[in-house]
Amino acid sequence: MTATLRPDGEPSFRESVNIMVNRAMALMDLSPGLEEKIRVCNATYTVRFGVRLRGAIHTFTGYRSNHSEHMEPVKGGIRYSLAVNQDEVEALAALMTYKCALVETPFGGAKGGLCIDPRAWEEHEIEQITRRFAYELAKRDLIHPAQNVPAPDMGTSEREMAWIADQYRRMNTTDINANACVTGKPTHAGGIQGRVEATGRGVQYALQEFFRHREDVAKAGLSGTLDGKRVIVQGLGNVGYHAALFLAQEDGARITGIIEHDGALFDEAGLDVRSVKDWITRHGGVTDYPEAGCRADPAAVLESDCDILIPAAMEGVIHLGNAARIRAPLIIEAANGPVTAGADEILRQRGCVIIPDMYANAGGVTVSYFEWVKNLSHIRFGRMQRRQEESRHQLIVDELERISSDASIKWTLSPDFKGKYLRGAGELELVRSGLDDTMRGAYQSMAEVWRRRDDVGDLRTAAYIVAIERVAASYRAKGL
Ligand code: GLU
Repeated sequence: MTATLRPDGEPSFRESVNIMVNRAMALMDLSPGLEEKIRVCNATYTVRFGVRLRGAIHTFTGYRSNHSEHMEPVKGGIRYSLAVNQDEVEALAALMTYKCALVETPFGGAKGGLCIDPRAWEEHEIEQITRRFAYELAKRDLIHPAQNVPAPDMGTSEREMAWIADQYRRMNTTDINANACVTGKPTHAGGIQGRVEATGRGVQYALQEFFRHREDVAKAGLSGTLDGKRVIVQGLGNVGYHAALFLAQEDGARITGIIEHDGALFDEAGLDVRSVKDWITRHGGVTDYPEAGCRADPAAVLESDCDILIPAAMEGVIHLGNAARIRAPLIIEAANGPVTAGADEILRQRGCVIIPDMYANAGGVTVSYFEWVKNLSHIRFGRMQRRQEESRHQLIVDELERISSDASIKWTLSPDFKGKYLRGAGELELVRSGLDDTMRGAYQSMAEVWRRRDDVGDLRTAAYIVAIERVAASYRAKGL
């Protein structure tokens, strides 16, 4: 299967994913028939619907692509962007199949998209459009707790998920599991704590796990821990923001560069992530960020010296045209498909280590799985604390604080101990520890292949081998 190249010499996004899949399959022992079955996208549905807005009928085009139903429901976000098209949705659906297999969430892969500029419409208009889109999908079982479960993606958030859940519920009033038809809902509407920041949190856990393995860190030409590492983040949306914030606040990393759609900031001493995010929220971009000294050219920042580069916005930002100039020795793909197949080749030859998307950004779907299970089980997650128990815990914390404040005793209480201990294993703790465990386990399964096999030179190929093997096993078990 050869890819058709675009004028810029790049294959399409879907073909780019398939090139990477083929590289892994060439090192596996699957029958050509099974290879093809795993690679192809099972079905892509296009819906076109009209909504009366501002006195006129506007027609919108949306997609839902089911890449693989080896496990059901199929899972994957819904994206709102003008760039949405069938090729993109199919590429993203395929990535969901491999991602779910790698982190062992029991789902097939899917993705949806609506071709729309979300900033061009008022909130109530987006609600009308979303409800109608949800109706079109749900009446075809393309939203369904047992068959097809969307989630947020670029341009959507828990707000849209709440509307989708409500719309589904209206159409299925007797379905007791209706809430499980979509994940990423607000906590007051059946969501789970920690889902909003889950993908960024997963990126942090992925990096923490990577830095626990000295020999892997050395392959990137790095050493030590995350503390003091210079990090450049491309895209300060939900994923990039949370990843950058946690890495700076909790791991001592220095966020030296931030690239946004309208410009970039660079400061060797480290940028204040929260303050940049506040500015973007209020002004729509970084252009007039008051610290004028740190404004910089976006392409130059992407290609600057740093220890870790985090592309966290959209696909194809590192391509044939700039790959040779990227200086980061370690790239972690917080976005889906940010490195094209051609760029991947150039970077690999240069010895750059890439922590691949299907692993790096799997935090979102992992916590989505917890939310889906919570909705289906109809029970609260986490322990309820009884009063008596709480006051006993408080006594212990008070005593420990007293001891640690005694200067003659060389012992300090870790800053987050109190919060953790007093809250006990609440929902957020369960979500975080479950996510951490998942990210550690998935890293180890992919890194083990990377280390053991001489013919596997990179983490992406290793990740694909692990994921494809699991999908293949599932198809074989079905008798295929
Ligand atoms: N849109 C996210 C992703 O690309 C989350 C998907 C989900 O939670 O189902 O992984």
